[in-house]
Amino acid sequence: MRPALVVAVDGPAGTGKSSVSKGLARALGARYLDTGAMYRIVTLAVLRAGVDPGNAEAVAEIADTVQLDVGQSPDDQRFYLGAEDVSDEIRGDAVTRAVSAVSAVPEVRERLVALQRQLAAGEDSVVVEGRDIGTVVFPDADVKIFLTATAEERARRRNAQNVAKGLDDDYAGVLADVQRRDRLDSSRAVSPLRAAADAVVVDTSDMTEQQVVEHLTALVAEQAGAPR
Ligand code: C5P
Repeated sequence: MRPALVVAVDGPAGTGKSSVSKGLARALGARYLDTGAMYRIVTLAVLRAGVDPGNAEAVAEIADTVQLDVGQSPDDQRFYLGAEDVSDEIRGDAVTRAVSAVSAVPEVRERLVALQRQLAAGEDSVVVEGRDIGTVVFPDADVKIFLTATAEERARRRNAQNVAKGLDDDYAGVLADVQRRDRLDSSRAVSPLRAAADAVVVDTSDMTEQQVVEHLTALVAEQAGAPR
């Protein structure tokens, strides 16, 4: 069954995409699907198997068999590899460093895109967050949003989050990582990161999280009208 509303939220790392997608899902009373977490779970499975993330053939084999499950509540997001809760581990450095290589493998994308479509099916509206949602996963989404912010602002936010978590204060390192992931994600052959032609581009550099959520909620109301 097709959900009442499908809202696609795409954009690069550090635009506040996850926080505002959750906020938007809450405001709409919708489910929330974090597709980046799915690529992270497959990446964790690859690392645990001792496979080189650059070995596309071996990565494809793992993607074929890996069992993963993701929560869809914006208020309680748990992620599972098999039966194990890996919600914290998939946010760690090892996974973050390897995830771009794993997500560039076509078989990984094929399997996860199919799973994303399955998970999003259902009656209730859903906010789907990722990189290729408006272009590939749901090209006929009711509303498509593409969030941007300068690389410097995105690195500043990510570094502040790290410091709040007790990690090192390393703006330069975080900026280099943001730029490296942008380059990899937008230059890969399969589903490169780009805004859909019919997406609304929102630059969040000078907006607070709350302002972005309010802006997007108004945008959805304007573009989609009352849910079908
Ligand atoms: O959003 P998050 O930073 O958790 O995503 C991790 C990585 O997963 C991204 O850097 C990108 O390489 C990949 N990804 C993707 N397509 C998506 C979502 C994430 O390739 N729809």
